[in-house]
Amino acid sequence: MNTADLDTVRKLLSTSKNIVIIPHKNPDGDAIGSTLALHHYLSNKGHQSTVITPNEYPQFLKWIPGENTIKKYSTDTEKCISLLDQADLIFTLDFNHFSRTGDMEALLEKSTAQFIMIDHHQQPDTYAAVTYSDTGMSSTCQMVYHFIEKLKDTDQINQAIATCLYVGIMTDTGSFRFRSTTSTTHQVIADLIDRGADNTMIHEKIYDTNTYSQLQLRGVALKNLKILSDYKTAYITLSQQELDDHNFKKGDTEGLVNIGLSLEGIKFAVIFIENKGEGIIKISFRSKGDFSVNNFSRSHFEGGGHHNAAGGKSELSLQQTVDKFISILPSYQKELQ
Ligand code: 5GP
Ligand code: MN
Repeated sequence: MNTADLDTVRKLLSTSKNIVIIPHKNPDGDAIGSTLALHHYLSNKGHQSTVITPNEYPQFLKWIPGENTIKKYSTDTEKCISLLDQADLIFTLDFNHFSRTGDMEALLEKSTAQFIMIDHHQQPDTYAAVTYSDTGMSSTCQMVYHFIEKLKDTDQINQAIATCLYVGIMTDTGSFRFRSTTSTTHQVIADLIDRGADNTMIHEKIYDTNTYSQLQLRGVALKNLKILSDYKTAYITLSQQELDDHNFKKGDTEGLVNIGLSLEGIKFAVIFIENKGEGIIKISFRSKGDFSVNNFSRSHFEGGGHHNAAGGKSELSLQQTVDKFISILPSYQKELQ
């Protein structure tokens, strides 16, 4: 965000606004944490602000301060349409293309509100009056911290905001271990703890609330894990039947893709999850080092994301999707060595 952008932001926020804040579809910890943190900050500054998620989010996020004020477009459609109609300013967080909001895409396309994007994914679109995009950032939550910092308002970061921001930085960095975790990330985290984020409580609320059936499903994922050692690749499949057998709920498969990446020598890990309701196979890609899963997913599976973490989808069957994936790998043999 350059000086001109910062001036635009200051000007936009200098009078009381009707603001809507939107994360991507299937929001994760960073999406929910960043939108709620910004919501608290803007409300405290006297704006009317609401977070609208395109759809439902996992149970393990349903304690974050302000979470009970979130409106879901999928179930509260009329209310959300009216909020969007009244909005004169829309923040889009943790995504950079309207298509990432699923069914909300057309509404955003025709909105006359001004947009501010805060995001750390690759290849941002150009819809916003202010695009604060930084692909080197650990998380959108860290960017919201810097956004508040640029507005010289860090003293406004209270316990609620600190808690929301801590959640997203923690979840998007794999608990501060991915390459995007810098010394600045740790400085931000230190400041958030000083401002009231209870780190032990937050870790427990996010990671230690498994049910027995979630752990059993993890067992199925482990059993289904396959290794393609020629390509330093590991993949997992989960069929709709396997999900149904374990009382699957949104969020239950979060992090399972990382199991493959924990194997010694593996550089590329994938999970294919059947979703009969949507008629797709949802795919998560993770890598270590130079291999770009953003490019891989963009080229073959209608997706994208970050260099080392991306998502995509396929409309083939589960088996056909895996077959397609395996047939593509030889053309990446060099990069995967
Ligand atoms: P996950 O595998 O955890 O769903 O997503 C990994 C990363 O890729 C996240 O930053 C997420 O926002 C992004 N991502 C997931 N699915 C898609 C997709 O279908 N398209 C794009 N462009 N990004 C995605
Ligand atoms: Mn993120």
